[in-house]
Amino acid sequence: MVIGNKEFKSQKGAIEYTRAIARKYGSLAYIHGGDDFEYLMALFERHPKSIKKLGCGIRAFKVITNFGGHLAFSIIRMDGTEDDFSFISCVKGKERSGKAYLKEAMRQAIALQVSVFKEYKAMEFKALHPDADGVNDFECDGCKVRINQSLDAHVDHVIEFSRLQEAFIEGRNDIPKIFNDRYHGLKEFRLSDMNFSDEWEKFHGEETIFRILCSVCNSMRLTKNLIGDGKRSLNV
Ligand SMILES: [Zn+2]
Repeated sequence: MVIGNKEFKSQKGAIEYTRAIARKYGSLAYIHGGDDFEYLMALFERHPKSIKKLGCGIRAFKVITNFGGHLAFSIIRMDGTEDDFSFISCVKGKERSGKAYLKEAMRQAIALQVSVFKEYKAMEFKALHPDADGVNDFECDGCKVRINQSLDAHVDHVIEFSRLQEAFIEGRNDIPKIFNDRYHGLKEFRLSDMNFSDEWEKFHGEETIFRILCSVCNSMRLTKNLIGDGKRSLNV
């Protein structure tokens, strides 16, 4: 099997090689460049939930000690948030396909809508609560708890993103297959696919319903889809 530019005879070999990287740096060390970063990036891309975990892109990997007392890795995103992942799941996982890249490029294309929504919600909250700073203060649309940290306020799609995506691409014959690399781990549309990208942005802007969730509601949503009506049908 091949991960990045390393070839292994077995999964066991890949697991041992990855453990050796963790040991070389030691617990709490950051890896943000060089061959080990490139290898970990290629490894991370094999994680079954890599796109969801990727978020706004990866700045660094961090060596952590997991609950079992073993060395493991977490990702540090561009916005400073941290998330752990099982590198063994990555070794056992698959290389990302063109379909996954398409989904990622489609997420990138609507990233501005996400940040505009977040800014709007912060301003709306400030209008109701004069003590709020207009940037970091939000109310969770799930449990109604007050959120005081912008990083803890997650913008969630009430109708799942993948449903919107599927509805948009259905029947189209101009679905992009090749993408540009934006920065580590992120794909975006090429200039020649701007028509597809623009129409997708417009469609998404018209059809999506966003809400703010706190970290707790968001993680429940990711694991069990407990909150909201994410399963409801689309009017398209
Ligand atoms: Zn909540």
